[in-house]
Amino acid sequence: MLQIIKKIYKSILSEKTRIKLHHIRFFIRGFFYSGSNVTCVCCNKSFTLFLPYGIVKRQNAACPSCNTLERNRVLYLYLRDRTNFFYDKLTVLHFAPENKLEQIFRKMKNLSYISGDINPELAMQQIDIQSINYPDNHFDVIICSHVLGHVPDEPKALSELRRVVKPDGSVIIMTKIYDDLSTTFEASGMQNTENQEIFRKHGKDFPERLKTGGFEVSIIDLGKEVGNLASAKYGLGENDLIYLCKRKA
Ligand SMILES: [Zn+2]
Repeated sequence: MLQIIKKIYKSILSEKTRIKLHHIRFFIRGFFYSGSNVTCVCCNKSFTLFLPYGIVKRQNAACPSCNTLERNRVLYLYLRDRTNFFYDKLTVLHFAPENKLEQIFRKMKNLSYISGDINPELAMQQIDIQSINYPDNHFDVIICSHVLGHVPDEPKALSELRRVVKPDGSVIIMTKIYDDLSTTFEASGMQNTENQEIFRKHGKDFPERLKTGGFEVSIIDLGKEVGNLASAKYGLGENDLIYLCKRKA
């Protein structure tokens, strides 16, 4: 019965409308978890806890109000506290935008901001990361978080990212690393822990793959850098690394 209701709901409402309704629900949900134990840097509200998330539920993951996850908060804090993202004039391309981050970035007057996704319902523009419809050397910053696992041709995507970022620009990449894999496992028809289709599980060789794609790579472990107390307060998780990629000369 529940499945039938879900099917009708999906057939009546567009994906954009369903996402809006979800976010109204999250906003209301936030009031029930008001507290002071944890703080979401993305919506600037405090709660008793972050909520469990995923098929195999991980604790302290989702913000009760804006539904951002650990990796989204890591990315936001990194951009806010460690880069010029919030004050310099920058041309930005944001792939598969996280709803709350997109809302924030679109309002920032210093940014010339575009979000892109292969699904036109999920971003400002339909953009295939394997064939980016922008000229060479165009963007100061490209954000590509938890995208590369879902792309059929990863080398092509990296080549395109390298082409459209400016020579001194930054490509900020995040992905799930499977710690039990020394090398990336490729196969179609797999699903990740959030029930999404993936083409590969990235292993410990991920930085090497980025280097092969033509980038110098710096790895930033913000959760570790801010320390255990702040990491717990802001719900930064343990394994959400940022791969800061610069074009090799
Ligand atoms: Zn939040």
